This record gives sequence, structure tokens and C-alpha cells, in this order.
Amino acid sequence: RAKSNGRNALQQFTPELGRRADERLALSRRMRAALSNGEFRLDYQPQVDLQSNRVTGVEALLRWTDSELGPVSPATFIPIAEENGLIVPIGEWVMQQACFQAQVWQASLPGLRMSVNLSPRQFARGDFLRVVQRALARARLSPRLLELEITEGALMSVGALDVLRALRAMDIDIAIDDFGTGYSSLSYIRNFHAERLKLDMSFVSGIGRHREDEVITRAILSLGRALGFQVVAEGVETDTQLSFLRRHGCRVVQGYRFARPMPAADAHAFISQFNEGALAHS
Ligand code: C2E
Ligand code: MG
Ligand code: MG
Ligand code: MG
Repeated sequence: RAKSNGRNALQQFTPELGRRADERLALSRRMRAALSNGEFRLDYQPQVDLQSNRVTGVEALLRWTDSELGPVSPATFIPIAEENGLIVPIGEWVMQQACFQAQVWQASLPGLRMSVNLSPRQFARGDFLRVVQRALARARLSPRLLELEITEGALMSVGALDVLRALRAMDIDIAIDDFGTGYSSLSYIRNFHAERLKLDMSFVSGIGRHREDEVITRAILSLGRALGFQVVAEGVETDTQLSFLRRHGCRVVQGYRFARPMPAADAHAFISQFNEGALAHS
């Protein structure tokens, strides 16, 4: 059936993919094969520091293009990989690949930070710290250049604070991803030992359109400032959003307004050019 309908017909179903049990099973099988065949890639999305007007970091984002299904969104396949446990070996691959790339970039982009997303399942494992240490050692990357992005939900789990403390002792930065959408109480974030809060895109996209989103954005920016977190705004697409964030003291922005997630070579070219421009204007 799939063959006679062809690739385009299948692609139409991609947004819906993974809803049904048989589709999830099929995706699980293909994901397992993709991992052993080396079909995963990483894209890198620049993060712009508004104080220096330079790209100071990138977020590694996982990409998978299946030979028959075409590109499958992480929003579809990561939840399935979390469920079936494949996120653990996939996440190890991501960590290693991102560390290698970060080290390669140090020669021409010194100090560029690499942010890697973690799933709660990786974070909860007993060998997690060893996995991170091994990736750093193999890549000969300084832990100072690695940042791990963890959601509030994962941080609320038992033992999370000990792992955070250990990461901090290793000199690895922590960013709290999708901040504002989880269940953590504001007083609890004091314990997180994180460097950054990533203001969720859902608030950023309401800037200029919904007063409530602007109020929440301002509140998170001032909370971040008061408690000593840098705030990174995610999903910044427009000049309106950018100037609002700048005006209210946001330190770092990430979004299509500056750059989409890109393959390594394109990201390198973008960052080199962007930062040269910043120097020329300073
Ligand atoms: P996230 O970590 O919050 O990543 C940000 C998402 O927003 C990315 O989606 C990125 O492409 C998208 N984005 C960035 N700027 C803009 C913008 O201006 N407008 C819009 N509309 N979108 C923007 P992506 O790459 O599809 O990833 C979705 C989620 O999948 C990520 O959300 C993260 O939770 C998860 N993910 C991606 N890569 C990994 C990974 O290596 N490991 C794990 N555990 N999760 C990952
Ligand atoms: Mg993230
Ligand atoms: Mg994020
Ligand atoms: Mg997010």
C-alpha cells in the first residue's frame, strides 16, 4: 500500500504520524534501524546575546529523515522514543555528536557554547553522569562549553537536585527548557542551580497580541533578573517580539528572527558572518 501511494502520499500523514498503536510500533522499528544505520543528524540553532550582539551559543536539535516517510518531526518521534526507551541510546549519540561538533568549532569560534536537550529518562539513569563525562572526554571538550537543557518536569523528579549539583560541580551549565509551562513552583526554582531559564515560545509568540503573555514574559524576565538567572527567549520570530524582549531586559534570544536550526556547515557560516558584523559595529 505504501509503495503504490508513494512517498508524497505518506508524507501527508506525517503530522498525524504516531497517533495509532500500529503506527507507533512501525515508527519504533524504523527508529531502531535509523540509529544503527546512522540516519539521525543534528541541526544547530544560533542563540544571540543581546548585550554583545553576538552568537554565543547554539542549541543542538535532532533530525530524522526516514527513507520512506520523509522528515519526521521530533515532536512526533521523541515522545515515542521516550516511551520505548530508545531515547537513551539516541540521546547518547546526540551528546557525543554535539560534543564533537562543539570541539571542532572552538578553533574558529572560540567560546561557542553547545546546548543539548535531555529527556527525563536519560537524566534519571544511574549512569547519566558517566555518559556525559565520557562524551566530553572523547571529544576533548571543556565542560564549560556544554549546557544541558532540562524541562521543569524532569527537575521535579526524585534525585534530580543531586544530579544538578553534580553537573554544576563538573562545571556544566543547566538551562531550564520550556520555562513557564511546567508545574514547578516559583520558590522551588531557587534550588535548581541552573544558569538559564528558557522562556517558552508560547509566551513569546503572544507578544504584541495577548496582554497576558506580555505580563507573564515581563514577570519571568524580572524573576530571572532578581534570582540571578539569564533568560533565553525561545521562538523569537518578529521585530515586535525582539524589541519588547530587549526593552524588558532579556539577555539572549533564539528564533527564526535571527536564524533557523541549520546543518553544521551553514550554522558555522552564519555565526562567523554574524559575529564579524558585530565586531565591525562595536
Ligand atoms: P525545544 O528544546 O524547546 O526546542 C525548540 C524548538 O523550537 C525546536 O523545534 C526549534 O526548531 C523550534 N524553534 C526555534 N525557533 C523557532 C521559531 O522562531 N519559531 C518556531 N515556530 N519554532 C522555533 P524542534 O527542532 O522541532 O524540536 C522540538 C522539541 O523536540 C524540542 O523542543 C525538544 O523538546 C525536542 N528535541 C529536539 N532535539 C532533541 C534531542 O536531541 N533530545 C531530546 N531529548 N529532545 C529533543
Ligand atoms: Mg531545548
Ligand atoms: Mg528549548
Ligand atoms: Mg522549548
